[in-house]
Amino acid sequence: MIDFKELAKEYGTPLYVYDFDYMAAQYEALKEAFRGRKSIIAYAVKANSNLSVIKHFAELGSGADCVSIGEVRRAFLAGIPSYKIIFSGVGKSDDEIREAIERDILYINVESEAELGRVELISKELNCAARISIRVNPNIDPKTHPYIATGLHDNKFGVDLDAAKRMYIKANNSENLDPVGIHFHIGSQLTQLQPIREAAEIVADLVRSLQAIDIELKFFDIGGGLGIKYDDETTIEPYEYAQAILGTLTALDMTILCEPGRFLTANAGYFITKFLYEKQNGEKKFVVVDGAMNDFLRPSLYKAYHEIEALSDAEGEPRAVDIVGPVCESGDFFAKDYLLPPLEHGDILVIKSAGAYGFGMGSNYNTRGRSAEVAVENGKARLIRRRESFEDLIALETEYLED
Ligand SMILES: *Cc1c(COP(=O)(O)O)cnc(C)c1O
Repeated sequence: MIDFKELAKEYGTPLYVYDFDYMAAQYEALKEAFRGRKSIIAYAVKANSNLSVIKHFAELGSGADCVSIGEVRRAFLAGIPSYKIIFSGVGKSDDEIREAIERDILYINVESEAELGRVELISKELNCAARISIRVNPNIDPKTHPYIATGLHDNKFGVDLDAAKRMYIKANNSENLDPVGIHFHIGSQLTQLQPIREAAEIVADLVRSLQAIDIELKFFDIGGGLGIKYDDETTIEPYEYAQAILGTLTALDMTILCEPGRFLTANAGYFITKFLYEKQNGEKKFVVVDGAMNDFLRPSLYKAYHEIEALSDAEGEPRAVDIVGPVCESGDFFAKDYLLPPLEHGDILVIKSAGAYGFGMGSNYNTRGRSAEVAVENGKARLIRRRESFEDLIALETEYLED
């Protein structure tokens, strides 16, 4: 058990704490599910992009799925080998494309015909053949929150099947493009297998139709999206997931690429915040804590549910409260009508499942420095990002700083 009170005392609050052993166990479970098949687990860096977290996965043999050149640079810094790094995203700039080609990553995941044109042009300038995959949008409803659904034609991601086929033919005929993979990612926090299976079937059929015209692809990239338990969701077991995917690949000898983010880190993370005050407006009770939406945005952005545990010695019956932060927005809350026991000033609240899309979505809104981050591994805690100071926050406002 992690001693959150002790960590709060040592590192201050608000604070992120990550259980590195849990992350490793999740990684191994997924890797094991694809055993007997060539596979690369490419950790989706955006879920938690702390360099120590990426390095932890690098040491386990993971690759990296990146959505900006900044994330690609992080992956390199953290020791992920170039041949396990992929670069996705609908809006890559010329500079980003150029750097990705120069760094010789595994492939660039192309998301539009226009982008394919840019990649070809830049690759020609560099006198090489850029390895690419094409992100197919299979028009499947993933049955998740609309903000994290990505595999419907209503969403901005990927290209439809006809466009994908045209693009593969173009790439195959180009001296400066080397199509090596095919990709789909229909959404995040997926808890049902059927949409994934349907999407994989559609994409596998496309692979077969490309084979028929002598376009051979090596990588079958199934994206990420595996859901986790925040509350009482039923989730997909890694083994079932792998079987569903492999079942669509009959007679196709391809390397599976899988890009989990949330699955690897969400339930390894805890957001620790301190109780400040209680107040009552009419019938409504508020518990005010020192963490806020700028530290941990998911409840505000998605109305996401997170289990919250109060480490309190006060006696008394639990009551329903709204747990809110100091930021000047009514949307600044962690939970509404949540049952908490009575609290005393300085008590610690532990917000669970905060290891994915937590720190990374943080901001400096209200001139609040971002939290510190701590890793716990083999029972030992260490600081992996120090708390931001006021000086950090103003460091780029040069008009005031010069002279
Ligand atoms: C965000 C993202 C992922 C990771 O999604 P999770 O739901 O965290 O597993 C994987 N691939 C791509 C292309 C993404 O954009």
